[in-house]
Amino acid sequence: MKPRYLTQVDQIELLDNEDRAALRRVEEKFAFRSNEYYLSLIDPDDPLDPIRRIAVPDVRELEESGVLDPSRESNYTVAPGLQHKYRETALMLVSDMCGTFCRFCFRKRLFMNRGAEVTRDVTEEIAYIREHPEITNVLLTGGDPLIMATSRLEPIVAALREIEHVGIIRIGTKMPAFNPYRILDDPSLPEMIRRYSTNEKRIYFMAQFNHPRELTPQAVEALNILLAAGAIVVNQTPILRGVNDDPAVLAELFRKLSFIGVPPYYVFQCRPTLGNRMFQVPVEETYCIVETAKSQVSGLAKRARFVISHATGKIEVAGLTDDHIFFKYHQAADQENIGKFMCFRRNSTALWFDDYTEPVSDVPVPQEIGEASG
Ligand code: SF4
Repeated sequence: MKPRYLTQVDQIELLDNEDRAALRRVEEKFAFRSNEYYLSLIDPDDPLDPIRRIAVPDVRELEESGVLDPSRESNYTVAPGLQHKYRETALMLVSDMCGTFCRFCFRKRLFMNRGAEVTRDVTEEIAYIREHPEITNVLLTGGDPLIMATSRLEPIVAALREIEHVGIIRIGTKMPAFNPYRILDDPSLPEMIRRYSTNEKRIYFMAQFNHPRELTPQAVEALNILLAAGAIVVNQTPILRGVNDDPAVLAELFRKLSFIGVPPYYVFQCRPTLGNRMFQVPVEETYCIVETAKSQVSGLAKRARFVISHATGKIEVAGLTDDHIFFKYHQAADQENIGKFMCFRRNSTALWFDDYTEPVSDVPVPQEIGEASG
């Protein structure tokens, strides 16, 4: 079953005429796109429905806050559509389309200016990766690579597989949540996975389930096709106000993901992207939500790290005391920073790492953290 795609708020049945009129102003700035399958997950009687919040535009997106490139990806762009921020990892933007435009998307700039960063011809990107033997991982992202036909995706995967030093090919996708029929209806996709996800070098899918209600029977079946074909699948999600900022909801997401063999990998601080203010939860509140959720699930369900995808690296929020917050660079653009431990005075309203302005140097580092970072 191929769900019909919708590209105008006027096509959203659960909205009345007044809503539609108000939201036309939003879609002029931030495009709307979704499909009938995903919108059918919304409870039409609940104006606060989390799936609605993910997919349906909201006038609060017009509040002026944030920037279009909050992680300053442009600083790490080494060729059109290719980013090289962490030594071992290259990131290829292969698509500027998605199965739904998440209202909180941190790359919404791609949809506002289609064609500006994503190139169809990846020759230059592949050549760069071939010339850099330190690159062991390549992340295909966008946009969503699975919005592309397998026949378009396969040549990119095949070219990467020919490069000896590339061990892991990652495909970042929210299609199992947005449109599992993309996977259910395409036998050529598992065939491609079987060909290129080898015993020695796997293909990883970085899925994005934000709420347990997205894990429908169809989505679970789609994930199983990827797993059965020999891929590894993990999940990453930002913490979003009104979607998964309730520890019980997050715990249920972690638990269900662990049951189906899709471990939670990263939990992200919502980035300060233009139009995202309504989704942002303060860093310290997010930390407590994540910790509370983790306390309710088994070890296999709580493997995710809570990180801030900052311009300088992935900064893990490592702990809180009454007065202080502790951070540690999990990944860093500057190799010297990897493992670096930092302590700041707490700021309960901070929404991003840059909002911490009072570093503290005379606090004893907890033994466990000090050892891990050394
Ligand atoms: S799936 Fe990812 S790239 Fe696509 S709209 Fe959502 S957050 Fe943005």
